[in-house]
Amino acid sequence: MSVYWNSRVRAAVPYTPGEQPKEGGLIKLNTNENPYPPSPAALEAARAAADDRLRLYPDPSCAALRDAIASVCAVNRAEVFAGNGSDEILAFAFAAFFESGDGAPPVLFPDVTYSFYPVYAALWNVPFREVPLDGEWCLRLEDYEEPSGGVVFPNPNAPTGRAVSVGAVAALAERLARRNTVLIVDEAYAAFAGEDCARLVREMPNLLLVRTFSKAHSLAGMRVGYALGSAGLIGALERIRDSVNSYTVDAVAQAAARAAILDQDYYRRITEAVVKTRERAAAELAAKGFVMPPSRANFLFLKHPSLGGAAFYAALREKGILTRHFQKPRIDGFIRVSVGSDAEMDRFLACCAALAGSAR
Ligand code: PMP
Repeated sequence: MSVYWNSRVRAAVPYTPGEQPKEGGLIKLNTNENPYPPSPAALEAARAAADDRLRLYPDPSCAALRDAIASVCAVNRAEVFAGNGSDEILAFAFAAFFESGDGAPPVLFPDVTYSFYPVYAALWNVPFREVPLDGEWCLRLEDYEEPSGGVVFPNPNAPTGRAVSVGAVAALAERLARRNTVLIVDEAYAAFAGEDCARLVREMPNLLLVRTFSKAHSLAGMRVGYALGSAGLIGALERIRDSVNSYTVDAVAQAAARAAILDQDYYRRITEAVVKTRERAAAELAAKGFVMPPSRANFLFLKHPSLGGAAFYAALREKGILTRHFQKPRIDGFIRVSVGSDAEMDRFLACCAALAGSAR
């Protein structure tokens, strides 16, 4: 606390990002990064963009990147927004679509979800209500139909990994559209689920899909995300961006992300590999008595048969494996582990087997 802080800074409840360890030798399975490298085409594009042109500002409209995204997602450029990671786009979306102040209707999101949502709400003074997931960690979409200031959830959800169907999202979007309510679906992990809501974007004027290059496209270090939505929604994000910083995506990142989204064959292959490893790890863990909802994402959310979540996290850390533990109601017995390479997961599975054996 400092006397120089204004009331907004005092009221902020900042997000704690997953640890990026300085020490080598750790198996890093804590922030859902991809174990495989970015596509060679993306790396080449990044290198080619790092030349004399860096003295110039980048294209503020990210036209070439948005055209590539539009062609892959079968929408128009006006239905695509590019930003500095999907976190930035989510922050802009909270500012653009949700009313602030005490009298405003609350925005709805799950009680167990991406922990950045309450942070944005606090920053922009947006009232919110957390809607409980059911006992199987599933969203009950009918709970989101009541009048509200807006709805946001990840699909698949984080950190549980559970997904709702495209049909169910379409039905909710349609009901919310009747009340001019915006539905934001955070598709950070949709590539690993085998289906996404892109085909709904052209039919639902109130649906915003927020996506990232950090997970399926292995470019977390580049900080690029994008949103798909009606031109009206995208225009609102542009108004917020241009009221803060017009050049949020740098020239190297625009070039790398463009090449990445166009290299669909490469990403299909590495996504299949991650999903295959996920399924193998889940089956082995279940056989050893670990409790785990079925995951459609690139992480598993699991509980040791007898250790608490904090002790499970600490025991893995002791063995050089970094996972994520959330000290929060309902989920503090669990850890979240990102799906790493097969070799990394073999080490993780061996540690889990040893822990389960010694707990008997
Ligand atoms: N949404 C969800 C659900 C996430 O887990 C993350 C990654 N922490 C993000 C958005 C943000 O990803 P990025 O800012 O790297 O695009």
